[in-house]
Amino acid sequence: MLAPNIHNGIHDGETAAQLFGRKEGLTYNDFIILPGQISFGADQVDLSTRITRRIALKAPICSSPMDTVTESSMAIALALCGGIGIIHYNNTVEEQVREVRKVKRFENGFITDPRVLSPDHTIRDVDRIRETEGFSGIPITEDGTTRSRLIGIVTNRDIDFEPNRDQPLREVMTTRLITAPEGISLREANQMLKESKKGKLPIIDREGRLVSLVSRTDLKKNRDYPDATKNEKKQLRVGAAISTRNEDRERLAALVEAGVDLVVIDSAQGDSLFQIQLIEHLKTLYPQIDVLAGNVVTQAQCLHLIEAGADGIRVGMGPGSICITQETMAVGRAQATAVYRTSALCRKHDIPVVADGGISNIGFLVKALAVGGSVSMMGGLFAGTQEAPGDYFYKDGVRVKKYRGMASVEAMEKGGAKRYYRDDREIRVAQGVSGLVVDKGSILDLFPYLQQGLRTAFQDMGYRTIPELHAALEEGRLFFEARSFSAQREGGVHSLFSYQEPVLGVKERTHAI
Ligand code: GDP
Ligand code: 5GP
Repeated sequence: MLAPNIHNGIHDGETAAQLFGRKEGLTYNDFIILPGQISFGADQVDLSTRITRRIALKAPICSSPMDTVTESSMAIALALCGGIGIIHYNNTVEEQVREVRKVKRFENGFITDPRVLSPDHTIRDVDRIRETEGFSGIPITEDGTTRSRLIGIVTNRDIDFEPNRDQPLREVMTTRLITAPEGISLREANQMLKESKKGKLPIIDREGRLVSLVSRTDLKKNRDYPDATKNEKKQLRVGAAISTRNEDRERLAALVEAGVDLVVIDSAQGDSLFQIQLIEHLKTLYPQIDVLAGNVVTQAQCLHLIEAGADGIRVGMGPGSICITQETMAVGRAQATAVYRTSALCRKHDIPVVADGGISNIGFLVKALAVGGSVSMMGGLFAGTQEAPGDYFYKDGVRVKKYRGMASVEAMEKGGAKRYYRDDREIRVAQGVSGLVVDKGSILDLFPYLQQGLRTAFQDMGYRTIPELHAALEEGRLFFEARSFSAQREGGVHSLFSYQEPVLGVKERTHAI
């Protein structure tokens, strides 16, 4: 194919080999991509990619395994949109497994693990659930557990005028139930809810046992997600992180048992004998599971992990927004150079590279792909969304959430930083900080915004797919230019008294310069 930015042999700009041939390392800010010719619509851009050898995604986006970024809500939202989330491991094995299970069990619109009570519970128990969890439509089963026979339902209307809150539910519950059989589609369930005019539709199996619940309130929220990242059983896919420590082999076994699709070995300096042994262990015991190994920044490091059996390589040492590794350890690499060098080697082995850290806007997301990344991993960009763990609060009038490095003093106190330390020495040098990020709304809105930005950028570059872009990169058909400091200033907002900055398409803030 003729390159969109070569005309009659005129080459303008530098190839990647020339750009990265200079001695100093480059960050995403240090270069720009020259435009090609627009010859197709942005809607014709296909962002499909792979995160590891066998796991395909419809969008090159995943989230960091950090305790202020990824638990089940984040992983569910990302997988619905076509990306994937990596559940963090700054928790007990049971807690991490529970988060993985929640993603695997998720069915759009169906509450697959509803709160249930027995007929002997009292109205007071329903009041308690309403206070702590915010809903009061409770199915009543024979023994008060899911998967036992459904015998009634209690809703607000059954109990709001009852003065005696100690009454058992058997006396107030509705027993004439409208139910639907297991296997019903969401569309059919929604139709039944509309017709019955009820607030809840319990789904039961042939023996009359409760399987799930559909809630009228969720009707409007149930969108269709054609790009969802699913396995062959139509379950959402999810990744989970583990450390190279020996005790995490039990964690690994439990995660595999829970149905995890992708294991991420989380290590700040990934080229270690511990990691190589762990990859070999994983590949011998669980050949069906893909492993994303890392973090690395050089070709030699990549080769060691690929030879051990890695299915994907995570690249980045020091570019994270909360990271101070390069300052405290003096080891690392500028991220654009790291992604370019490692992906050049990984492509030869057909192993995808995940560009991890330092992606603070759509432009950097584009650049990470343009220099060879197959997927970008983001922490800070997602930390302020509704789906990230933690509550919002106000700071100087701005709605914010906490975001912290896994090797920050705060996360280490909670048992984190396993990725940074190879023994239990008492003195640990922090390699990350804690901070605040602004409210970014829901991933379900942010994700399409990022995708649309990416599609438009691909159109500007003149490439329709990520493999086409990578082929152009490799064959010297994609052109770049280094940016001087003043070119970087020119490219940013300047010469204004104040301006509105779009916070990733969700809100606008006013900036005084
Ligand atoms: P209710 O009528 O008081 O039960 O509350 P709504 O049906 O208006 O809202 C309940 C919301 O909580 C819906 O968005 C549900 O999806 C959600 N939810 C999550 N888990 C459960 C659960 O176990 N039971 C119920 N009833 N709702 C749940
Ligand atoms: P961000 O997207 O916020 O720029 O970077 C997220 C990435 O930073 C994570 O995926 C992880 O690789 C890295 N990271 C997370 N916590 C720490 C930390 O405490 N120190 C360092 N050096 N890196 C961190």
